[in-house]
Amino acid sequence: MQTTPVIKQYLDIKANNPGSLLFFRMGDFYELFFSDAEVASNTLDIILTKRGQHMGKDIPMCGVPFHSAEGYIKKLLDNNMNVAICEQLESPKEAKMRGYKEIVKRGVVRIITPGTKLEESFLVQKENNILMALFFFDNSWTACWIDISTGLFKSTSTDDSRLLSMIDQISPNEIIAYKNKQEFGVLGSEASLEITWLDNKRSFSKSVLLEFLSSFFDLDHLKELNIGRLGSLSLIVRYLQKNRNLFLEHYNMPEQIELSNIMTIDPSTRKNLEINTSLDGEKNLSLLGVVDKTCSLLGSRLLKRRLNAPSTQTNQIFKWQRKITEFYNDNQITEEVRSLISKFPDTERALSRLIRLGPNPRDLYSLKKGMDLFFLLKDKIKSLRENKIALDDLVEDNLRNILEDLGLAIKEEPPLTIKDGGFIKETFNKELQKIKLEEKNAKFDLLELQKKYSQKTGIKSLKLKYNNVLGYFFETPIAYKDKLLEDNEFFHKQTTVNTIRIKSASLDKAEKTALNARNNALELEVRILGELHQKAIEISKDIIGLSRKISSLDVCSTLGHVAKINNWCCPLVDNSNDFIIDDGRHSVVEKTVLKKSLNGFVPNNCSLSADEHLWLITGPNMAGKSTFLRQNAHIIILAQIGSYVPAKKAKIGVANKLFSRIGASDNISKGQSTFMVEMLETSNIIKNADSKSFIILDEIGRGTATFDGLAIAWAIIEKILRNNKSRTLFATHYHELTEIESKNSKVKNVSCEIKEWNDEIIYSYKVIHGKSKGSLGIKVAELAGFPNDVILEANALLRKFEKKRINEKDVDLRKGDLEKERLLKVKRDIDKIDLESITPLEALNILHGLKSDI
Ligand code: ADP
Ligand code: MG
Repeated sequence: MQTTPVIKQYLDIKANNPGSLLFFRMGDFYELFFSDAEVASNTLDIILTKRGQHMGKDIPMCGVPFHSAEGYIKKLLDNNMNVAICEQLESPKEAKMRGYKEIVKRGVVRIITPGTKLEESFLVQKENNILMALFFFDNSWTACWIDISTGLFKSTSTDDSRLLSMIDQISPNEIIAYKNKQEFGVLGSEASLEITWLDNKRSFSKSVLLEFLSSFFDLDHLKELNIGRLGSLSLIVRYLQKNRNLFLEHYNMPEQIELSNIMTIDPSTRKNLEINTSLDGEKNLSLLGVVDKTCSLLGSRLLKRRLNAPSTQTNQIFKWQRKITEFYNDNQITEEVRSLISKFPDTERALSRLIRLGPNPRDLYSLKKGMDLFFLLKDKIKSLRENKIALDDLVEDNLRNILEDLGLAIKEEPPLTIKDGGFIKETFNKELQKIKLEEKNAKFDLLELQKKYSQKTGIKSLKLKYNNVLGYFFETPIAYKDKLLEDNEFFHKQTTVNTIRIKSASLDKAEKTALNARNNALELEVRILGELHQKAIEISKDIIGLSRKISSLDVCSTLGHVAKINNWCCPLVDNSNDFIIDDGRHSVVEKTVLKKSLNGFVPNNCSLSADEHLWLITGPNMAGKSTFLRQNAHIIILAQIGSYVPAKKAKIGVANKLFSRIGASDNISKGQSTFMVEMLETSNIIKNADSKSFIILDEIGRGTATFDGLAIAWAIIEKILRNNKSRTLFATHYHELTEIESKNSKVKNVSCEIKEWNDEIIYSYKVIHGKSKGSLGIKVAELAGFPNDVILEANALLRKFEKKRINEKDVDLRKGDLEKERLLKVKRDIDKIDLESITPLEALNILHGLKSDI
């Protein structure tokens, strides 16, 4: 059996678009064939059928109706697949006109990938949807990322050490990179990152890159960029071009981000501190959940970006603080602004859909509504010093012109789609008014005709109806069939089970006028809409700018509002190494505690400085150690996004990096080799933290045998004191560590207070000076109803162990102790050498290593 022309066409298109499922439009369906069909039927749970044969084998096929395709496409995207939309580019009639056997021309109009979604239903409303290109050149990474659904477009450079935290900060939905050995090296080992590796056959000379990019961007601007920036930009442009999502002419050049201006937060810290979601994945119980009381979707997206990229620059932080304070101080204006913003539509996404998917009344109306509110807001805050909106005259004119046009032309709350018309106000256009009047008159004539026929025949139930096949017709119950057909004025059109349908010459005439008017009106409405659409997207950069201003206004007024309702204070931020908090609180735990008990959350002080930068926190289980650690990390993040903080008073020197290591006991459910993970993360901390960094370490060493763990924890503290000098909060259950305080003035012991009363343990959740009395583990066991003899034995053993406890002398490592350790390591290393197989060069290398070990 020969391959049919359609299958041949399919195979050609498929070959040109590898890597995506091809949705092949055939009439009212998108059909999938061959392995695409198998994959799709499986994922979508739809029936797999066959259609003809190819090379002697059945062709598997499945399909989805085109009008409900969105839901199916979403599911495939959610499963990390790409979808290529192949449309019919002409009508069957047009094809036949070219030749009797010609088939309809088809072509891919768009490839939808996880990073290039536009449809509302594919996107998460309160999150950006980002495509990131990573380009490696000259030992450095340049990233360029874009959210084509909002117009966000940025770029930055970094070395290996910050790469993963940068990616985690941006949290892209799709990453692309060229295939290349080094690139595989770092990124390839990171299993949790999904990366699309693209073949690279191009050279990256500056002139080639400039030539390619100059058709999209201003050449003078481009010339200022280095090869890394140009390379990442061209990578993203080529990718968007390939999947036909390119509309960069509406955007400015990517904004350059300097990573040293942003606090580094490594991926595990972001997760453990529950910044965007709790460890169970709930947004409500995260820091974002507490602060995200924004009123618009744009504001919500901006706040999330800001919270994930606290600034290290005091100037920037002060600017944000001033804006937020202005709202904090003026309840009334805050309320008014917030109430206006709550009506603000998602102009960012409406604009992107208009640009890429063409005119539609609903999105144009959203722009109109947005611009209306924008000017209202601008007026409302014109007396505010910090927040008032300044607009370039030209931009203001642009916006006002379009706003006026849209206001005059588009009906309130218009229909979602174009097809039925009714979205342009008749008053907008004389011609339209005339046609609409004709249509109205014709409809009136039709109704008159109905009345007339009803009277003439005496059939009260004679009805005027419309469908796509017959157009207008009259319908009566079947019982009147003979009576009607006797009358010469009527001619029979159709008989159904219960009814008879007829037409008449007068009906034909009125119908023709009505349908003509309707088509003409629709045509005119579509033309007007197209013109407005064109005008609007011509000023898309101004509309993107307007959306930015609103989102920033939303974030600042929201943070002012959140500070007020939660009783937060404005921190004093500077470049010192201080971290002095009076009555600090944990904003999430505070909310849950309040629900659970009447006592409420117990605030705590914290005071770190260059002179005393490590606090060692001891205390039994459940006493509040972890909460204290996290609340302080949250406070420093909030302070550096310019926000107020949950405390009575705070003085905070900016931190350049934030590290955390939360003990194995706290995320044991993950079931990884927790101790290994713990050590990897800790090693990262002591390698990268410096005197401007902030570290929280929670129960380090817990995942291994007591003495191992204690030794490791001890060595880490010494290392931090000696080298990193970072501000550090260290919670531990190893009481032995409290000895360090007496030897190093930079360390301070604190503990979470507990009281014993009538054989009961009472947690006061107060962080007090001095070490805790003991872990009280046996006490807890007793309370839990352990048998008496077990408790007795445990207490006796405890006393014995305690006698043997390391005393201060033992742990005061002398030079000799370390010397001995080093020699032992050298001996171990020598033992490992296999003299039979080693080459002279290897031997020399090992010797070199041994020498540096001693
Ligand atoms: P630890 O780390 O010492 O075992 P956690 O910090 O996990 O203790 O705290 C255990 C529980 O105690 C928390 O879930 C919270 O309900 C309560 N808690 C902690 N700190 C406070 C506080 N400052 N005020 C009130 N309740 C607190
Ligand atoms: Mg804890």
